Order: sequence, then C-alpha cells, then structure tokens
Amino acid sequence: MKQNITLAPPSAEDKEFISRIEREADTSIRLCYQCGKCTAGCPVAFAMDSPPRQIIRYLQLGLVEEVMAADSIWICATCETCSARCPRGVDIASLMDACRREALAAGRITDKKVAVFNEAFLSGVKNFGRTYEAGLLLQHNLKTMQLLKDAELGLPMIKRGKVSILPETIKGRDQVKKIFQRIETMGRE
Ligand code: SF4
Ligand code: SF4
Repeated sequence: MKQNITLAPPSAEDKEFISRIEREADTSIRLCYQCGKCTAGCPVAFAMDSPPRQIIRYLQLGLVEEVMAADSIWICATCETCSARCPRGVDIASLMDACRREALAAGRITDKKVAVFNEAFLSGVKNFGRTYEAGLLLQHNLKTMQLLKDAELGLPMIKRGKVSILPETIKGRDQVKKIFQRIETMGRE
C-alpha cells in the first residue's frame, strides 16, 4: 500500500540558514528541478553519503540537519563540474562551500582530517598568496597525528625540486591578505 510521508515545515532558524547560504552562494535552490545532472558529473559522488542532487533536495525541504550531518560537504572538491552542468544555473559548488563554512562555524565537522587540510591550505594562501605544499603537508600530518603520512612521496619530490621546503610568495601577496581580512571582517559582522 502506498504511504504518504508528511514532513514538518522548516523552523524559522532553518529558513534563515537556507536564506543565508543562498545569499552567500549567490544562487537559488528553488531553481533546481532534480534532474540529477550535477550528481552524474560529480567526480567524487561515489564517495558521498548524499550526492549533490540530494543535498539540494534536503535544502529545498528545509532538512538542514541532514545537510549538516552529511560527509558530502567535506568530500566535495569544489571542482565546479556540477555548477557548470546544471541546466538551471544552480551554483551547487558555492552552496556546498557555504554549507561547509556554516558547519565549520558551528563546530559540526564530520571529517576532522578534511577540516585540518582546509585550514592548512587556506593559511598558506593567506600568508604567501599561493599554496605552500611542504608546510601544508607538515601542518596536516602534525595535527592529524600521522607524522610519516605520504613521506615516501614527499621526500623524493623535495629532492627533485618539485616541492620547495621554503615557502614561495607571489607579487600580489598583500592583496590576497587583504581579501582574507575583508572576509574575516564580513564574517564577524
Ligand atoms: S543539475 Fe541543477 S537542476 Fe539538476 S539536480 Fe542538480 S542542481 Fe538540480
Ligand atoms: S563541486 Fe563538489 S559537488 Fe560539485 S561536482 Fe565538484 S566535487 Fe562534486
């Protein structure tokens, strides 16, 4: 026998969450008609508990808790394939990013290693204007207690000059720093 499932309407807090991430991502979840092209093109959908189409559906239904608890927002590589494929112009990659920032701010991190990597990567870009691979690896391994992780790959790369031990900077480093400072100020407002 067919069963009807009734969902409770989203709370005011959840509605506010959804409006906020739409604003941050500068896109609208209402445009999505669930065609699934985003999931079909996502290179890491196979590893996600809730692929991109499902994340959008959760948001449309106001199921914020399901989004916050999903590993998917941490697995997303921000490759933007989904946004490029969407026939309705939904910027799913930016929505994933906005959800990740919300989860970080709320201390809702389902995968600590990804959060550590994210933080180490961004601090390198903030300080040097570009990625600092050796520092990223060191910071990640120290904070996740895996001191020798990928050492067999990293050391030969350093020896061959493919990865520099010391950070390299770019010309516009100060401008990049200013962008970070501006975003931090906006986050506090
Ligand atoms: S590709 Fe766009 S319209 Fe299709 S399911 Fe994904 S977000 Fe929705
Ligand atoms: S941006 Fe994220 S969700 Fe979209 S296709 Fe890339 S990995 Fe998948």
